Amino acid sequence: MGIPHPEVALILRNSQAIDFSYLVQPGDFFSVYPHLYNLKLPTAKSLLSKYPAKPKFILDVHLGKLARYLRRFGFDTAYRNDYQDQEIVEQAVRDKRIILSRDLGLLMRKKVKWAKFIWHDDPQVQLKEVFLRFNLDQYYPGQESRCVNCNSKLIEIKKEEIIERLEPKTKKYFEKFKYCQQCDKIYWKGSHFEETEELLD
Ligand SMILES: [Zn+2]
Repeated sequence: MGIPHPEVALILRNSQAIDFSYLVQPGDFFSVYPHLYNLKLPTAKSLLSKYPAKPKFILDVHLGKLARYLRRFGFDTAYRNDYQDQEIVEQAVRDKRIILSRDLGLLMRKKVKWAKFIWHDDPQVQLKEVFLRFNLDQYYPGQESRCVNCNSKLIEIKKEEIIERLEPKTKKYFEKFKYCQQCDKIYWKGSHFEETEELLD
């Protein structure tokens, strides 16, 4: 049949499930199915490799906004706006990351094991695509978050430790803060967490 396609979950030949190694014969009749959100395929029949743990991602250069969203939700998301395609594939293999991309050619490279083609332009809809496809709500505990800039895990920090750095209004209205050790950046409810909850809704 050819090279695995990241959005093809099932191929039936005359009603029998086959894989991409099948050689097409005259008279064959095929039905091709995408990932179906409300139907669980028997694992043995699915052509999409199931990711075995909490998903980790690597995103192509066009998906910067989506990368920031995934980090807000605490998902380990590698992204740079100057990635070369080869680098993305190599890092995905090395770190066992799922590649998200709008470039089908990239996703159909031989070494790629876990991938999703991103269909939509709007980053919020893209986020929904990814949530649905990889069941991310089961992995989002509602607490964890990563720095949108650098992907480091945010740590809780006491207000008194950073109070001198806060703007007067922030000082007055907010009590809970998180901190990125890498970027030396402070996050608080309102700047980061509330918007995350809104997105989730
Ligand atoms: Zn950071």
